[in-house]
Amino acid sequence: MGKKMDLRKATVEEWKIGVGDRIEKKLRSTLERIGCVMHVDMYSRSLGEYSVKLTNSRCLVVNLRAGTCSCRGWQLRGLPCVHATTVIEKEKLWVYDYVNLYYKAPTQRTIYLNVVHPMETHDSGVVDDNIGAVVEGQELDEDFNRRILPATREATKTTN
Ligand SMILES: [Zn+2]
Repeated sequence: MGKKMDLRKATVEEWKIGVGDRIEKKLRSTLERIGCVMHVDMYSRSLGEYSVKLTNSRCLVVNLRAGTCSCRGWQLRGLPCVHATTVIEKEKLWVYDYVNLYYKAPTQRTIYLNVVHPMETHDSGVVDDNIGAVVEGQELDEDFNRRILPATREATKTTN
């Protein structure tokens, strides 16, 4: 008795990804930077809360359920920050489940076809992964060319 689970699973995963190359690239480059996280501790499985210790001994709190990190990067970008990505990887979860629906293909289509206003971006900032905090505000997400202010300096430069 053969089951057709594999085919079904592939379809679901395809739908789940649906983020396009630029977002995919971002997720990958985030993944490459998880070395700044030294240690992950679970606070509460039911709350989906984790404490993330960085190599510079700073501590952050990631909440997978709420889609937040105390560095604020996740909330600002709608993409898991490096700290959240570390937790997701550690828990062997599917990173695409944690990408804001805004970035998913069906949502993109809706936005472009119906001219839905994109999500608020006025307070978007740049998060320094090592500091674990927003270091520069007012920079909009380049993925959709919504950057309104020119970069005043190389904001994402890190020292590692
Ligand atoms: Zn973070």
